[in-house]
Amino acid sequence: MPMKVAIIGGGAAGLMSAAILLEAAPKAEIFIIDKNDGLGKKVIISGGGRCNVTTGIQDIKVVLTKYPRGGKFLTSAMHKFSPSDVYQWFESHGVPLKIEADSRVFPRSNDGHDVVGVFEKLFKKSDVKLVLNTQVINIKKIGKSFEVELKDEPPLLVDKVILTTGGQAYRQTGSTGDGYAFATSLGHTITELAPSLSALFTQETWPAKIAGLSFQSVSLGPEGRLGRLGRLRTSGPILFTHKGISGPAVFALSSLIAFEKFDAKHPLEIVVDLLPDKKVSDLTSSIEAIKLANPRKSWLNILAEFVPKSLAEVICLELKIDGEKKSHDVSKKDLARCMDWLKGVPLHIISRSAGDEFVTAGGVNLKEVDPTTMQSKICPGLYFAGEILDIDGFTGGFNLQASWATGHLAGTSASHH
Ligand SMILES: Cc1cc2nc3c(=O)[nH]c(=O)nc-3n(C[C@H](O)[C@H](O)[C@H](O)COP(=O)(O)OP(=O)(O)OC[C@H]3O[C@@H](n4cnc5c(N)ncnc54)[C@H](O)[C@@H]3O)c2cc1C
Repeated sequence: MPMKVAIIGGGAAGLMSAAILLEAAPKAEIFIIDKNDGLGKKVIISGGGRCNVTTGIQDIKVVLTKYPRGGKFLTSAMHKFSPSDVYQWFESHGVPLKIEADSRVFPRSNDGHDVVGVFEKLFKKSDVKLVLNTQVINIKKIGKSFEVELKDEPPLLVDKVILTTGGQAYRQTGSTGDGYAFATSLGHTITELAPSLSALFTQETWPAKIAGLSFQSVSLGPEGRLGRLGRLRTSGPILFTHKGISGPAVFALSSLIAFEKFDAKHPLEIVVDLLPDKKVSDLTSSIEAIKLANPRKSWLNILAEFVPKSLAEVICLELKIDGEKKSHDVSKKDLARCMDWLKGVPLHIISRSAGDEFVTAGGVNLKEVDPTTMQSKICPGLYFAGEILDIDGFTGGFNLQASWATGHLAGTSASHH
């Protein structure tokens, strides 16, 4: 009798585990069950439709630092299927990739469909059974086997289950967190869940005035002594929005503060250094030189030599300095206040942008899963991979990389009888 394996969820982790299982145990009967009518719905829309497949960073130690939760657990999976292995795997399966300047890896076609297409072609040539438009409603352990209960369909009896139902972010893609209940019913615990990688809303309303303005390299973090958050800082691009801030540096911060509580009454105070490569003293000397050479120029226009004019207007408004004032008349104290503001823009975070986070932080407790096989330590024959686990990374291809790596490992391990 061939071994029967049910893979619950045809997202990144499920697809990779199926592909590897197919290769390692060609005789196994493999079922991929997904409630969607197609495979890899989230993969297709990831990276703005371009699919940031993995990272170009080669050093695995560095890669593992990009996971605020789960980095250590990932060590084994990541060594077995590293970002460069992922790169080669997709290229050898007919998807040429490219590494962009910021180390993100995309298909050269800039089309996420091509990534999912690899799996579709593989499965078409094989006996993998795609059970689409089908929702799993429960999983029971019966002796050494599993009974997978399906909505409006007879149940499926299998020898092994790979649970890859993802998190609960972007629920419209089918990832509604169902797997947490299945894992719990099979004896697992789920750690606290929280949205991660989201834009942040601020109490300040001035970001709306410069919505759309971005800075390529800023540094930001919580202000003052906030216990374990006190020294936390992230850096990278920022985008001002109608309600606050967004962009990779902000997503990284949102990830680090995923479990912090804050609201309009108890905002989280952060500061943004808009010019992290410049010292206040150097900035002050440069602006003083311009001021001296242009005594009759308005202060607004002087500031606009350093930052976009719309932001210069915000600075004047926020600091209550008349922007039309001749630069000659601006006091040393006001000049210093402007420079301090640029080096530490104060913002009060009141909420996360709900519903459009990229990933769910938290998940199946990693203590209950063997990191060298992805098999449950509680329920033999049950494997986990992907975002359902208590693993989440920053933006930059790290979340898909974790799904490919854990999916690869789960597929390999499940192939052993
Ligand atoms: C908008 C967006 C953009 C992103 N961009 C990137 C990026 O560019 N790079 C990157 O690394 N990461 C990105 N991510 C994160 C990344 O896409 C996910 O972490 C990754 O896809 C998770 O893979 P997964 O296989 O664990 O779960 P998912 O891809 O979420 O797949 C889970 C699957 O399980 C199915 N399912 C769930 N419950 C059931 C059930 N009861 N019955 C049947 N089927 C079920 C779902 O339909 C779904 O297809 C992005 C996320 C979002 C939301």
